[in-house]
Amino acid sequence: MRVGIIGLGNMGGRMAKRLLEQGVEVGIFDVNKEFMRIYASFGAEETESPADLAAKFQYVITVLPNVYIVKEILVGEEGLMKGFSSNSLLIEMTTSIPSETKEINKMMEHAGFRMIDAPVSGGVKKAEEGTLSIMVGGDAFNFEEVEPLLGKIGQNVIHVGDIGAGHTVKALNNMISAATLAVTGEAIALGVKLGLDPTKMLSVINTSTGKSFSSDFKFPNQVLTRNFEVGFTLDLMVKDLKIAMSMAEDEKVPMFISSASYQLWKQAWSEGKGNEDHTTIVKHIEEMFDVEIKA
Ligand code: NAD
Repeated sequence: MRVGIIGLGNMGGRMAKRLLEQGVEVGIFDVNKEFMRIYASFGAEETESPADLAAKFQYVITVLPNVYIVKEILVGEEGLMKGFSSNSLLIEMTTSIPSETKEINKMMEHAGFRMIDAPVSGGVKKAEEGTLSIMVGGDAFNFEEVEPLLGKIGQNVIHVGDIGAGHTVKALNNMISAATLAVTGEAIALGVKLGLDPTKMLSVINTSTGKSFSSDFKFPNQVLTRNFEVGFTLDLMVKDLKIAMSMAEDEKVPMFISSASYQLWKQAWSEGKGNEDHTTIVKHIEEMFDVEIKA
């Protein structure tokens, strides 16, 4: 099987390496030439442009910062549309805006090309291990065709509905993830201010009803250790929250809890913390509480 990947950042690069380890022939394209060199050294085939990659690889994965870049990659002068043929299949793994995904799909269909949306959850570590969650939107036959391929990078690969459904579920998942990280941060920071040991608090929470991925993984590995290494930026989290909030606005429904969480994230973002890992939100809370959460 031959797969091209566009976007070799925190996620796409790890996916490329994982697919190579699984014996897949991988083609790569990124504007960052250093990333191209790194993944070529692992055995990936460098390509000249998105058009070149699309002409050489039947399956094309895009895993890019946002939908505007995805569109540029598709319709640009040397874009994917110039290289696709009727058996090509675009697997759009960017966390993106569902309404835009539906528009892109219409354009693809009109040109006689196929696509699915297949965003991921799990972060850098799960991308390395091939244990991501992948939520897929689009035609069931197209999904079935690439399900074995997606199974090489994901442990939970679920077809959630028509085109755009994967991107919808992804935004909603991150809305929950953002709120649980923030509320856990507030709770632990308050506990520390009250004189409690954060490690012991987390031991209780992680065997109690307050447990979440944030308390179980992010706090022990990134907060208690003070290791805020960048895996998923605060910029990207704010982008995801904006998508979720605008979906709610389109449906004219209130989002009380998520709105409060969104404001907190935007406050940290407006202070210039966008390029830091998203777990920096805990440092932002610590600053307000005048405490530090460490083991
Ligand atoms: P990243 O910023 O680390 O990587 C993006 C890559 O795209 C970079 O290598 C960049 O050079 C490349 N790029 C940008 N513009 C380009 C262009 N015009 N042509 C070719 N390449 C271009 O981002 P990431 O963390 O890997 O995230 C990628 C997507 O996956 C985002 O949509 C994000 O929301 C989503 N996501 C990320 C994580 C995570 O933990 N990092 C988890 C789930 C989903």
